[in-house]
Amino acid sequence: MADRDFAHSLIYSTETLIFSILALLLLAYYRGIGRTYVKFWLFSFSALAVNQLSLALDSVFNQQEVGSLIDITIALTRQVSNYLHLLFLMLGIYSATKQKKISPRVISIGVIAAITIGTVATLLYGFDSNSVFNRFYLRESLAAFIFGCGFIAAACYLFSLKVEHFSGKILLAFCVLVGIRFVAFSFASIVSLTNDWFRHLTEWLIYVDVGIHTTLGFIILIWMQGAERHIADTAINRAKYLDKHDALTGVLNREQVLEKLTNEIKTANENGQKLCVYLLDIKRFKFVNDTYGLKVGDLILGETARRLHHSLLKPKVVGRLSGDSFLYVIDYANEQQKLTAVDHIHALIARPYQVEQQEVYLQCSVGYCDFPSDADNADDLIKKSNLAILQARSHNIHSVKYEYGMQSQGRHLLVMEKEIRRAIANEELILYFQPQLNLKNNRLEGAEVLVRWQHPDKGLLAPGQFFDDIEALNLFSELDNYVLEKTCQTIAKWYKTYKRRVPLAINITAVEFQAKKFVSNIQNLLMKYEIPPIYLELEITENVVITDIELVMKTIIDLQNMGIKVSIDDFGTGYSSLAYLRKLPIDKIKIDRSFIQEVASNDSDLTIVKTMIELSHGLGKRVLAEGVETQQQLQLLRNIGCDAVQGYFISKPKSEAEFTKYLKRK
Ligand code: C2E
Ligand code: CA
Ligand code: CA
Repeated sequence: MADRDFAHSLIYSTETLIFSILALLLLAYYRGIGRTYVKFWLFSFSALAVNQLSLALDSVFNQQEVGSLIDITIALTRQVSNYLHLLFLMLGIYSATKQKKISPRVISIGVIAAITIGTVATLLYGFDSNSVFNRFYLRESLAAFIFGCGFIAAACYLFSLKVEHFSGKILLAFCVLVGIRFVAFSFASIVSLTNDWFRHLTEWLIYVDVGIHTTLGFIILIWMQGAERHIADTAINRAKYLDKHDALTGVLNREQVLEKLTNEIKTANENGQKLCVYLLDIKRFKFVNDTYGLKVGDLILGETARRLHHSLLKPKVVGRLSGDSFLYVIDYANEQQKLTAVDHIHALIARPYQVEQQEVYLQCSVGYCDFPSDADNADDLIKKSNLAILQARSHNIHSVKYEYGMQSQGRHLLVMEKEIRRAIANEELILYFQPQLNLKNNRLEGAEVLVRWQHPDKGLLAPGQFFDDIEALNLFSELDNYVLEKTCQTIAKWYKTYKRRVPLAINITAVEFQAKKFVSNIQNLLMKYEIPPIYLELEITENVVITDIELVMKTIIDLQNMGIKVSIDDFGTGYSSLAYLRKLPIDKIKIDRSFIQEVASNDSDLTIVKTMIELSHGLGKRVLAEGVETQQQLQLLRNIGCDAVQGYFISKPKSEAEFTKYLKRK
């Protein structure tokens, strides 16, 4: 081997080593927190390492005959890895700046294109020892041209984004320079391939490229560090914002609505003003969610909030109470203004919503009442508007004003009330159990009790199919007490049969925590069934506004003093956000499924989940992630310190028979 070849192979081997180490670093980083762009750069630098290895081998085997197996194999590896390096580098830049998922189709098309170009460049003229020039044009000039265009395109893209951080600017400058280097080389090679100066230049460029690659490695590392800081900042800002606002729509959340309304009442009282409190529900919103998907549903809710917020009547309060239910408050001087506002609200919602190139038309029901003539405090005003809206819904009328002694049940509700009470009396409501896995010791930590209705005619019904009626009929208390007693019975029964107790978590509506006898009732049940309190956990599920947070806090403290654990359900959704985390003395938060769904594919969700875990741990609370459906999600959650998980990946909710079988297997 000539000295020069030896020197080259040494350089390329060193580069191979450096980029392999860099790829390993990226791999470790990706395993830890799994950002998508890191994955792309991991692929890119792995391809670069392979590329440098093939260059090293090329220098070693450069005596090989053109078209021999070794020659072709090395050339093919070199070409394909080179294009893959560029492809993944660009995908990484896009993904790091856009925080958007790149569709697998686009990636596959890119990979196929890279392999095809690489293969054609290798095989065409690859076996003909006379076609030296053509071979060079295809393998070197073309590659340089494509690289040049890629880098210049990346530079334009970064420029159009107006990147602000330091590493973004360096990357931009880098892309411009490298882009020029490659394009210039490709033209020079076509014009002056045989000139002496060009041969010297090529020799020089080997060293220049070492510098370029190393700089790229550094830039990427600096970028990652900067990007992480940036993502963390956004997450913290978002967390602060969540504390005050409904996460989905950006308007006030329930707690804030109550606070604001209370203040407005005070001011109105002092100034002798009158307020009108409107509650509105979007009709058939479930249908929208089912037809267009949850994302679209969320967009529509956001748009609704925006319309209400910016409405001409300058509302005093706008907020979202739950799902598709909004509150809108104005002050008024005469009756006509009140009616105008009703029409105005209907008109706002009736304006078409633009969804995926089609228009969705929606309507709403409105229930309303007055301050001070109907009620003099925020709670009662909301309750009375709620009664009015129930009437509107059940009679299918657009708007209903609250009237004294209003009948809240429509015919359907009357029928359902009988059916539900019968179901409770006949024990048609049965319990399903979903295992919860402790990630610290990989053991079953307990199970969540989920109710099902074994309906004599309609078959097995999930909560979603009958909870609306339970809510409208105000039967949550009956349901919760029934489930509570059934659960205690079950724990006792299993102990008798299997000599084993499993901690069970029950969903309890937040309002139950305000009931006077709640704590003593639980105490009696524990005594009656001889159950140590540590086997019972209560999940606060907030589907009706908590009106008296002080009372709820007191109840939780009482329960905890008894040794019963309390956790907060659906954490992160509009209902239960950071405001509660600080205030309620709970043991555990359950991160809502919606965050976990995207945790492996969406960087900002991942950061939010990480932040939630850190905040909760900081406050001494444990964290369980709900709705874990894949191995990847599980691994990520484990890496970022989540304490426990629950979801279809571990197990779907099981009937009692299935669950006891599952326990025996464990
Ligand atoms: P939840 O408390 O958030 O319960 C978890 C729900 O998510 C359950 O639905 C469960 O089947 C479902 N789930 C669990 N893992 C996964 C997963 O990996 N992927 C997906 N897509 N879903 C998963 P379910 O049983 O239909 O219950 C719905 C809601 O009804 C519960 O939400 C809870 O708020 C309420 N609920 C259920 N049982 C009771 C009860 O006894 N009392 C009260 N007050 N509420 C209950
Ligand atoms: Ca729950
Ligand atoms: Ca939940």
